[in-house]
Amino acid sequence: MRPKREERKRNVNSGIATIDTDKINNPIDKQCNNRNKYKGRFAPTPSGPLHFGSLITAISGYLDARKNNGDWYLRIDDSDKYRVKKNAISSIIKTIAAHGFEWDGDILYQSDSSEKYLDIKYKLLNNKAIYGCMCSRNDLKQNKIGLNGPIYDSKCRNKKITGEKSYRIVTTSNIIHFEDQLQGSQRCDVKKDIGDFIVWRKDKIISYHLATVIDDNSLGINHIVRGKDLLNSTFCQIFLQKNLGLTSPHYCHIPLALDNENNKISKSIGADALDDGSPNKNLVKGLKILKMTPDKGLESESLKTIWSWAMNHWDIDRLAGLKFLKI
Ligand SMILES: [Zn+2]
Repeated sequence: MRPKREERKRNVNSGIATIDTDKINNPIDKQCNNRNKYKGRFAPTPSGPLHFGSLITAISGYLDARKNNGDWYLRIDDSDKYRVKKNAISSIIKTIAAHGFEWDGDILYQSDSSEKYLDIKYKLLNNKAIYGCMCSRNDLKQNKIGLNGPIYDSKCRNKKITGEKSYRIVTTSNIIHFEDQLQGSQRCDVKKDIGDFIVWRKDKIISYHLATVIDDNSLGINHIVRGKDLLNSTFCQIFLQKNLGLTSPHYCHIPLALDNENNKISKSIGADALDDGSPNKNLVKGLKILKMTPDKGLESESLKTIWSWAMNHWDIDRLAGLKFLKI
């Protein structure tokens, strides 16, 4: 369950100025007092408790932000109410706090952005940047598979569809290119390799891509550290940023953590929830997975000492060129 607002206020760890989250039109440059300050975030979906794979992502993002004297925010990506599991939000916050992470500002909730999402949807509609589509998953079965599943062939672009529908963005053949700090140069022709992708679902839920872009911008996030499974999502997100006139952040996709059977550590394979009772052990194990070599006995030290050691020794580029991380 989501904590009450008063409890959420208590989670403020620092006196960061409140950002005007009502205005999506403020590009990052205008929002940040110091536009060069590193701003990162950890944005778990509360579809279950945190597992070891999410801890690896959180550690990397946190250490990278702190190493660069940056801010690090905790955002609960709960815009998809169908994926939110009972008690997952409080369990995630508890786990993050138990492991000694100190986030900046209030905890953010995507569900607080719903009005802003609607404003953007109407803005995109007015600009004829999106259109209604009634195609089901089944309808796309014959389509060629692209970077993110079946490539949508713009079939409904010129149809005037009424009733229940999803909304797709009109893609163009411009090449999206970005330099990922760990994965190197990435390029994609969004129209050809992905097609018009969904920004608003038939069940009236905003797409992951659009919600992410809007909320990252509102907060002035300029560094994104996340798992490599989201590398191809970045093309859609950069495409949306360009469409909305927003600045793109710097991206860094860390290799995925695999278990002994080479499965990605995820909820879908039933990964165990992190044990909040042994944060020291979990952190030190996480640091080792991230190719660090903690001093013998670090596990028995305080969380503060572990984090301080980790910050002194963090070098994200050590993960460059690695195909995966082994748990
Ligand atoms: Zn369609």
